[in-house]
Amino acid sequence: MSDDVLRRELFALPAGLVYLDGNSLGALPRAVEDRLRTVVADEWGTGLIGSWNRPPSAGPGEGWIDLPARVARRLAPLLGAEADEVHVGESTSQALFATMVAASRMRPGRSVVVLDRTTFPTDAYVAQSVCRMLGLTLRWCEGPGDSPDGGVAAVQAVLDDDVALVSLTHVDFRTGALWAMPEVTRAIQEAGALAQWDLCHSTGALEVDLAGSGADLAVGCTYKYLNAGPGSPAYTWVARRHHEALDPPVAGWMGHTEPFAMRLDHTPRPGVGRLAVGTPPVLALSALDAALTVFEGVDMAAVRRSSVALTERFVAGVDDLARRHPDEPLSLASPRDPERRGSQVSLRHPQAYGLVQALVARGVVGDFRDPDIARFGFAPLYVSPADVDTALEALAAVLAGREHHDPAYAERQAVT
Ligand SMILES: *Cc1c(COP(=O)(O)O)cnc(C)c1O
Repeated sequence: MSDDVLRRELFALPAGLVYLDGNSLGALPRAVEDRLRTVVADEWGTGLIGSWNRPPSAGPGEGWIDLPARVARRLAPLLGAEADEVHVGESTSQALFATMVAASRMRPGRSVVVLDRTTFPTDAYVAQSVCRMLGLTLRWCEGPGDSPDGGVAAVQAVLDDDVALVSLTHVDFRTGALWAMPEVTRAIQEAGALAQWDLCHSTGALEVDLAGSGADLAVGCTYKYLNAGPGSPAYTWVARRHHEALDPPVAGWMGHTEPFAMRLDHTPRPGVGRLAVGTPPVLALSALDAALTVFEGVDMAAVRRSSVALTERFVAGVDDLARRHPDEPLSLASPRDPERRGSQVSLRHPQAYGLVQALVARGVVGDFRDPDIARFGFAPLYVSPADVDTALEALAAVLAGREHHDPAYAERQAVT
């Protein structure tokens, strides 16, 4: 496998655009366009109901009904997991609900769920609701920040015999701070709790090794670095040792061993398959299946090396700009050590929103996170070192022209 992971030609990105927002919505893989056309016209339009068992475009015996398992086979290597430990379907928020309830059922007698304060809001909302529903208590721990231990001490500070589950966002969506997954997992398990990782900002840009880290559960979305399109299905990973005890809260017919036996009593499928709820979203799963083909033959260790090189190049350029503009309150919000950082660089500036909008006007797309973060994600499959240089030139022009102070950027749009 080569170290060159850049495959921009596989993506339908507009020419000249520097897209540094793949951590929010990944670029469109060309294969998705073709696949969706086939799925709609041939499989649905012509194959109709018969496509559940065998669409015209699938291999022998492969129908829509097997699509979730097929997608899991493609996804598993990117997670450091085995295919039959991965369920694909629902949103991350729903996956979090299922795993948080299931985890608490695996630890009866323990009444505390721990989340990091830097968690993504939906994780916090779901946890609060689960705690209300099951009479549990939510406890907060600090995020890893840039501490060299990757958050081990932060998590140890809140662990005791009451903790059932610790659910952490592997990469902080605001700053890009990265937990040390294996060490933190070990600390959690030494206290008798289960360790869950939310991998939304990790998979596709970082080397993820769920098996190697010894984690218990994981969830993640597929529309960020996995490029499967807006609202594409999420995934849930459950370590094999927990499959027997896995008791998800929403027992739907697709999680039944024999959905078409149409019995009134629920007999859960073996393994993670019991996490399935309703009819699989075939159009969205087809897009995801096609999107994952861009990772075929790609070495994730090489992706990570490329990501580190890109973010380091960007940080060095920003440091240089900050030196040239001592009057600008521009600072690095991400950890300086690339080992403690995901595939993004976040900058702090009181006019961060204006900064991002002025860059967008110059063809460099990042995004803004309240209150003062300008965020830039580096997807190594379609972002090159030359793109980083173009982004830095645009940032230099914005600062020199004080474009971020433009009153047009005083109003924020609904999606930032
Ligand atoms: C993007 C993201 C989500 C999104 O949840 P959805 O239900 O898929 O919208 C959840 N958690 C984290 C950490 C995220 O970054």
